[in-house]
This record gives sequence, structure tokens and C-alpha cells, in this order.
Amino acid sequence: MKAGLVIAIDGPAGSGKSTTARLVAQRLGLFHLDTGAMYRAVTLKIITSGIDIRNRQALERLLKKTKVELRWTKKGTRVYLDGKDVTEAIRKPEVSERVSEVSAIGCVRAAMVKEQRRLAKGKNVVCEGRDIGSVVFPFAQLKVFLDCALEERARRRQKELAGAAQGSPPSIEQVRRNLAKRDFIDSRRRLSPLHRVRDAVLVDTTHLTIEEQVGVVCSLAKPLLK
Ligand code: C5P
Repeated sequence: MKAGLVIAIDGPAGSGKSTTARLVAQRLGLFHLDTGAMYRAVTLKIITSGIDIRNRQALERLLKKTKVELRWTKKGTRVYLDGKDVTEAIRKPEVSERVSEVSAIGCVRAAMVKEQRRLAKGKNVVCEGRDIGSVVFPFAQLKVFLDCALEERARRRQKELAGAAQGSPPSIEQVRRNLAKRDFIDSRRRLSPLHRVRDAVLVDTTHLTIEEQVGVVCSLAKPLLK
């Protein structure tokens, strides 16, 4: 297989993009590029540094000093912020609460898109996010738009958070509100809004198991692997 294959997976929050992308990548021997994790890492940096994001000069200065990396290990993709592993920290509710606001800012997007293209260069990747098929890799050989009913997304995400939580996990209602708020901001922002591009295959996962949704994407991708 020649390098340069891009499978783009976009969709709303909690639609199963990360799980699907990770398993498809494992199964087909591709790199998994989780772009949401990168926006989350920048958000974590902003929260810990305490800067006011309305101060664009301060934000640009901070971005210049910020290094977000994805490292592919046997344990899966790990996310590093300035050399520190933040894979678990970026999933905290404080980050989920602020990430859409941060991702709507032009200088943040420009820095992340540049890094995403650099990371994918010379590789075969499954890349997931909100603007992958529309902006980051408009020439991706396969574009998938994963959708799922909000109630089902909230139920699945709450279960996942309850499994990982050290303290008390958020309720389904709290999770539902966060997903809906992020979708609202992500799909209405001026820059690279979340939408289904015309050449993306729509896969609704509301009534699919993980195994089924991974199977659908793998069967769409297989003809491209020769
Ligand atoms: O994929 P995940 O839900 O972890 O993404 C977190 C947030 O990052 C999204 O709600 C969105 O605001 C932002 N994002 C983005 N563009 C991407 C990926 C994620 O704006 N390509």
C-alpha cells in the first residue's frame, strides 16, 4: 500500500468517531489521528495558564510556546502537551466544557490544522474530527460522517465516563447538555463548522453496535488498500 491514504471521519460529539477510528486503524494497519484530542490539549493549556482567551496577543504568545503531540504506542495513541502525557487529563469535564469555545478561534485552528497535516504526511491515516473531510483533508480518499441520536450518544458517553471516573461521574442529563452545547457551537461557528460534506458517506450508529460500525467503515475502506 502506498503512503498517503486518508480516511476522514467527521461527526458530532459522542457519535463514536474515536472508538471507530481507533479500531479501524488497528484492523487495517493505519495511524489514528484524533484531532479532537489536540484541541482538548490546547484547551487544557489555556485553563492551567489562566489566560483570558479574549486577549488574542496573549493567546498567540501562548500557542507559540505550546507543543501538542500525538505519539503512537503499543497502548494506543497518547497525547502529550509540552512533553507531558495528558491523555487522561484532557477528558476531564472542565476541558469538555471549554473546548468548543477555544476551537472556534482562528489562530488555534490554524496551528492545529498545520500540525495535523504534518503528522499525516507520508503515512496512511484514519483522521477524525469535525472539519477533516471539509478543510484538513478535502482530498481524502474516503469520507465518513458518523451520526447518532443525541439521547443515545449521551447514554453511551455517560457509561464510558462512569467506567473511567475516580470521583462521581456526571449524570446522563449533564452529559447530554454538554454534547448538545458543543454541537451547537461546533456547527454554527464561522470557521470550519461541523457539517456533512456532499461526498461523505453517512453512517448512523444509533442502532449499530461498535463491531457493526467498525465493519461498515472497514468495508468502505478495503477497496482503497490495494
Ligand atoms: O472529538 P472530541 O469530541 O474530543 O472534540 C472536542 C472538541 O474539539 C469538539 O467539540 C470541537 O469543538 C473541537 N474539534 C474541532 N475540530 C476538530 C476536532 C475537534 O473543532 N477537527
